[in-house]
Amino acid sequence: MSKPEDSRSEPSADRPITLAEFQQLIRDMYLPKDVARGVDGTFMWLVEEVGELAGALRDGSHKEQQNEFADVLAWLTTIANVVGVDLTEAVQKKYGSGCPGCGQFVCRCSDSGKP
Ligand SMILES: [Zn+2]
Repeated sequence: MSKPEDSRSEPSADRPITLAEFQQLIRDMYLPKDVARGVDGTFMWLVEEVGELAGALRDGSHKEQQNEFADVLAWLTTIANVVGVDLTEAVQKKYGSGCPGCGQFVCRCSDSGKP
């Protein structure tokens, strides 16, 4: 017997989580706390996590690196929730048509600048 389809897709261990599902998950778990803390305090947590990622990249195990990438993404997502930015929409608008610099799907921008 199959489960009735829910209009909102829930994360599942059976398949990869989408960016939209991850943002909703973070919203469901933390939004009231995140809003109470505010952008400034939350941004400080993001920066702290970026520092921990730097340490893990330098001398951490693969598992430690995975954990720190997850934390950085979670805190980044939290800030997007607090200010009302839909990450899927943001990423689609900026990168969905290729490199924002050259418009190609394999970047051909000069190496002297970013990206
Ligand atoms: Zn490019």
